[in-house]
Amino acid sequence: MTGAHTYAFPDTDLAPRLECGLSLAASGCMGVQSGPENRKRLFRTAGIDPASAVSLTQIHSRIVRVAESAPAFVDMPEGDGLITANDSLVPTVTVADCMPIWLLDPVARWFGVLHSGWRGTGILRTALELASDEWGAKPENLRVILGPHIRSCCYTVDGERADYFRRGFGESSVTLDAARAAANDRWPWRLSLAEANRNLALSLGVLAEHIRDTGECTACNPLYGSNRRQGAPSFTRMLAWIRWR
Ligand SMILES: [Zn+2]
Repeated sequence: MTGAHTYAFPDTDLAPRLECGLSLAASGCMGVQSGPENRKRLFRTAGIDPASAVSLTQIHSRIVRVAESAPAFVDMPEGDGLITANDSLVPTVTVADCMPIWLLDPVARWFGVLHSGWRGTGILRTALELASDEWGAKPENLRVILGPHIRSCCYTVDGERADYFRRGFGESSVTLDAARAAANDRWPWRLSLAEANRNLALSLGVLAEHIRDTGECTACNPLYGSNRRQGAPSFTRMLAWIRWR
């Protein structure tokens, strides 16, 4: 589809039946307030019924909500992850450097999408706990796609945030940039949200072969919207969605 990328879940016969989409910068800003016309156009092009799309008021949290019906989400409750067992719904989040994470459990038959930036890292755990309560989900059945986001090539952080990630999400989630450290840069560490989420997923019991990383850095590549590259307030929020075909 022009103006969007789609991705497939690893290691499941259901992969062709699920569409994991991400609108590109050329499709325009997809904010509910800032891009309603762009959303309408994208839904039309992608063949998505706008009445089946569910969205949240995103607050960089680890809050995940179970969507049972679209009308229940008209007022867009706060949160950063949507999961559902209702095959007619289209969960969506917006991203611009934060990571979209698509989820599918082909056994317990639920699916969803998460918005995971640095503050939200850990939302994958919340999603899995919620799905376990709701549908008896087991981590070894979960398929995970880690989408385009700001990568360690562009994402430098200070020592405090590096410590937070090293302690919470594993040593490999940060690396010291020797040149920046030698120059006494205040942000000498490089943060990998992909590595942090991979470590988290594995620690929860997700199988390595069930995790797909799409690659691509949103800050490097102008194909994508990027808060860091484009700057506030006019950066291009991209829409990440998931639906049954
Ligand atoms: Zn980059």
